Amino acid sequence: MRIDLHTHSRVSDGTQTPTELVVAARAAGLDVVALTDHDTAAGWDEAADAALAAGITLVRGMEISTRHRGQGVHLLAYLPDPEHPALRAELERIVDGRGSRAPAMLAALHALGIELTLDDIATDGVPGRPHVADALVRAGVVASRDEAFARYLDEGRPAYVDRYAAPLTGTIEAVTAAGGVSVVAHPWGRGRRAALPPEELAALARLGLAGVEVDHQDHDPGVREELRALARDLDLVATGSSDHHGLGKTDHDLGCHTTAVAEYERLLDRAATAAIASTRAVPALVTPAD
Ligand code: AMP
Ligand code: ZN
Ligand code: FE
Ligand code: FE
Repeated sequence: MRIDLHTHSRVSDGTQTPTELVVAARAAGLDVVALTDHDTAAGWDEAADAALAAGITLVRGMEISTRHRGQGVHLLAYLPDPEHPALRAELERIVDGRGSRAPAMLAALHALGIELTLDDIATDGVPGRPHVADALVRAGVVASRDEAFARYLDEGRPAYVDRYAAPLTGTIEAVTAAGGVSVVAHPWGRGRRAALPPEELAALARLGLAGVEVDHQDHDPGVREELRALARDLDLVATGSSDHHGLGKTDHDLGCHTTAVAEYERLLDRAATAAIASTRAVPALVTPAD
C-alpha cells in the first residue's frame, strides 16, 4: 500500500483541480491520498467524487496556518467536521486574513513599481503568496516561484505582508473537538525547529497532537531519523508525504515520500476515537469498492 497524506490542489496553491490531483495520484501508483489544501475544505466534495471514479482511497484533510511561540506552524488536520463552530471560526479568520493581505501585497509591489491587479492573482480559492509569485512570473518580473519568494515575498522581503494565523494549541484542541486528528507538517523544516523543540512536541502530544510529519522534502535525512526516534518516544504517529503542489513546487512529486501502513492505521484509530468522543458528523474515508 502506498499512502501520501499531504497534497494541494488549485483550491489552495497547487496547480491541479481536485479531480486532476486524484487522477494523478492514482496514476502515480498511490492507494491512499489525502487532500490537504491550506485552510479550507472546499475541494473535498470534488475530490471524493474523483476518488470513487478513480478507485483510490481519499482522506479528507486540510493544512491549517497556525502560530506558536511567534513562528508559523502548519498543522495538518485529518477527518474533522469542518462545520464544528470553533474550527470553522478559526478557518474563517484565517481566510479573511488572506483576503485582506492580497491587496496589501499588491500595494507593496506597486510601491516598487510593479503593477499587478487582483485579477492577476485570482484563483479557484483564496489567493496566497504563491499566486502572487505566479503572477510575477507571468508578468516577466521573475523567472520562477522560488525567485519571487526570494526577492519579494519571503518574510523580510519588501512585498511580505503578515496575516492572521490561529494559535497552535487552541487549533489542536478545536480539531480534536471536531472529531479529527492533527499532525504537525514539516515540524523541523526551513528553520521552524526553534518553535518546536522536543519538550514542546511532548507538551503538544499531551494536549492531543496525534502525529508529526517525519518524511518530507524540507527535512534532511539526519533530521528525519531524529524526529522518527522522538515520535517513537512520545508515541506520536510518524507520517511521510509529498506536499505535492502540482507544478507549483519542484521535487514534491506525488508519492516521493509515503506513510507506513502501520502508522496510517494508528492515525485512523486515533481519528475514530476522536470522532466518537466528539459526537460530530465527521467525513468518512472515501473508499472505492474493490
Ligand atoms: P501563504 O500561505 O500565502 O503565506 O504562502 C505560503 C505558501 O507558499 C507555503 O505553504 C508554500 O506552499 C509556499 N512557499 C513558501 N515559501 C516558498 C518558496 N520559497 N518557494 C515556493 N513556494 C513557497
Ligand atoms: Zn502550499
Ligand atoms: Fe506547509
Ligand atoms: Fe503543504
